[in-house]
Amino acid sequence: MPEPPLSIVWRCQLDVSTYVALGQQIEVGEQACPECEQRLSGWGGYWRWVRVPGSERLWIRRCRCSRCRRSHALLPEFLLERRLDEVWVIGHALALSITNGLGLRPVAERLGVPMTTARDCRRRFRVNAMV
Ligand SMILES: [Zn+2]
Repeated sequence: MPEPPLSIVWRCQLDVSTYVALGQQIEVGEQACPECEQRLSGWGGYWRWVRVPGSERLWIRRCRCSRCRRSHALLPEFLLERRLDEVWVIGHALALSITNGLGLRPVAERLGVPMTTARDCRRRFRVNAMV
C-alpha cells in the first residue's frame, strides 16, 4: 500500500499577501527528502485557499525525490495541511478558548472567523491532544 503524501513545512520569510502576489513565481529554495535526504527536484504544484480577510488562492509547490519516488507538498510555515486559516489564527483561537476560557462566539468574533472554525480548532486540538 502506498504511503500517504507527506508535506514539508519550509521557513517562509514572506507574509501571506506577498506570497499570494508572487503566484507561481514563489521560490522555496533547496529541500531535502525527509526519508533519504536526497535533494528534491521541482514537481509542479497546486492552488489552495487561505483565509486572510477574505479568501485568497496561493500556489503550493511540490517536489519529488528521485530515489524514493515520492512527491511532497512544500507548505510555507504559516499554513497547515487542510486548514484554511493561518497557523497563528488557529493558535490564537486555541489560546483564547482553552487558556483564557473564552466561549466560541467571542473567539470567532475576535479573530474574524466563523464560529464553526473556532469550534473545529478546539475539537481537533482536544482529539489530537489525547494521544
Ligand atoms: Zn527520498
